[in-house]
Amino acid sequence: MPRIARIETFVVTQRLQKPFSYSQWEYDRRTVCLVRVTADDGTYGWGEGYGPAAVIKSGIEFLAPLVMGGDPLAIGALWQAMHVRATDFARRGVLLASLSAIDIALWDLKGKLLRTPVHVLLGGQRRARVQVYATGLYFDREPNLRERLAREAVGYVGQGFRAVKMKVGLGIEEDAGNVEAVRRAIGPHVRLMVDSNHAYLLHEALALTQRIEPFDISWFEEPVSPDDYAGYAELRRQSKIPIAGGECEYGVHGFHQLFSAAAVDIAQPDICACGGLTEAQRIAALARTHFVEITPHCWGTGIAFAVGLHFLSSVDVQPGRLRAREPFLEMDRTENPLRDLLTTPRFQPVDGCVAVPDLPGLGVDVDAKRLEEFAVLP
Ligand SMILES: [Mg+2]
Repeated sequence: MPRIARIETFVVTQRLQKPFSYSQWEYDRRTVCLVRVTADDGTYGWGEGYGPAAVIKSGIEFLAPLVMGGDPLAIGALWQAMHVRATDFARRGVLLASLSAIDIALWDLKGKLLRTPVHVLLGGQRRARVQVYATGLYFDREPNLRERLAREAVGYVGQGFRAVKMKVGLGIEEDAGNVEAVRRAIGPHVRLMVDSNHAYLLHEALALTQRIEPFDISWFEEPVSPDDYAGYAELRRQSKIPIAGGECEYGVHGFHQLFSAAAVDIAQPDICACGGLTEAQRIAALARTHFVEITPHCWGTGIAFAVGLHFLSSVDVQPGRLRAREPFLEMDRTENPLRDLLTTPRFQPVDGCVAVPDLPGLGVDVDAKRLEEFAVLP
């Protein structure tokens, strides 16, 4: 059987033509750390971490010796070896994003070695197409933000999206006006979600909730600090809008804390940060015991997106019923050359869904020329 022979990191970056912001800071470039794990027969798998790329790269270099020489089919054992080494220093946080990147590359590699798509390895396909929603509607420095948001939202509907998510977090009055404008623009039949990226205190989040309840909001994401479990729970008790969160949470123990607090209706682990596909499966099982939905956070290249597709293709949705609820994957539509040019295929929604790759592994590859072109030189 092949052994793991090489682990390489690639930090890639691209400056954006038009910076955009959300409640916390402004983006003027996109930067990610990818990892390629190669077996001694030359077969390789790609992975990606979500978070500060330079730190993720260091973390991968720290964890790599634990995986080198290992059996690429024994992902669980390799995962545990890395996790044991991380636990003393980083029960939560970015070292788990490094671990996630390696874990994802191992799943891709295992799929290629066994000539099997990852969704089959994860338990088998339950759906060949995954429902997606457009993430966009960020802030910018232009005047007439509200008009631009309304126009942008209509554009997503024109591209076939049946659900869109917008940013809030500029203040209650401005947020409420923006949400109303977007709802009017897209009409009553497109789902609309809002995300404050933990911009508010509980009383502010409550006030915003009351203002936007008439606009049929499918969820309010990260309303308060990810550390304010009690605030989440209280908001959830008082709000008619479902509460979502978890993109800043790590590992099954982090989600255990979130679920034990009855904090969310919808959990949003980032598979490229929470512990990879291995841990995401455990988080999904735990969520099931708390009757919480799983809607992964996804913000990266085509690798991260494909990971979400395979995961949701195989995930179990409860409760069962004739017209089952379909899980949702986040599809970032902001300017991102790394997503659009670095990886193939370029995913496109059709009737609000994206087909799950049916090739061995994740079914995604990295363009070698672009990888060189986008590389951050040491
Ligand atoms: Mg979010």
